[in-house]
Amino acid sequence: NKFEQLGLNAQLLQAIGDMGFETPSEIQEKAIPVLLEQETDLVALAQTGTGKTAAFGFPLIQKIDVDDRTTQALILSPTRELCLQITNELKQYSKYIKGLNVVAVYGGASITEQAREVKRGAQIIVATPGRMQDMINRGFVNIKNIAYCILDEADEMLNMGFYDDICSILSDTPDDKSTWLFSATMPAEVARIAKQFMFDPEEITV
Ligand code: AMP
Repeated sequence: NKFEQLGLNAQLLQAIGDMGFETPSEIQEKAIPVLLEQETDLVALAQTGTGKTAAFGFPLIQKIDVDDRTTQALILSPTRELCLQITNELKQYSKYIKGLNVVAVYGGASITEQAREVKRGAQIIVATPGRMQDMINRGFVNIKNIAYCILDEADEMLNMGFYDDICSILSDTPDDKSTWLFSATMPAEVARIAKQFMFDPEEITV
């Protein structure tokens, strides 16, 4: 199993086996070792369908401290559907890791219920930018100590008009976190976010 050579732990490898993944995709092969070994920012140019969710999801899950119930990672994604899809994937990947909680935060559903779920302990929050900003404004989440921030489909989020929300949310996170940006294209607004909020990122294109 080539996933073993990427440095993933036994619980992840078992879940990967259950899902029937046999060979890492190109983005997984390139991103996973880098993200596991280094605390670095990353800009990855990758389309959907390339396996990018696992490319950030596997290393992220391995880096979460399950003995600490505070929020350690924030994943921003453009739509409610994507949020739920990423959340479901992360839950499958982490099925053998006891105490790891992933919570989805998105518009069009009860914010108080989402706040309750976060309060129970969510090491990873997967959110749409608008609802995340709302949760922050109401004091329902604390992302001041997160170690990882992932911007998924950054170009799509910016197309949808989330530039201000993304800037505001990122300004609420600590400077010493690692930011992993995934985008299918690199328009000026995405480059601007990268320049403003990232430091000397690794670059991967597939
Ligand atoms: P994504 O690009 O993250 O949306 O993933 C596209 C689809 O490919 C998802 O349904 C994944 O479950 C699946 N997938 C991801 N990585 C692999 C892999 N290494 N082998 C087989 N399927 C995969």
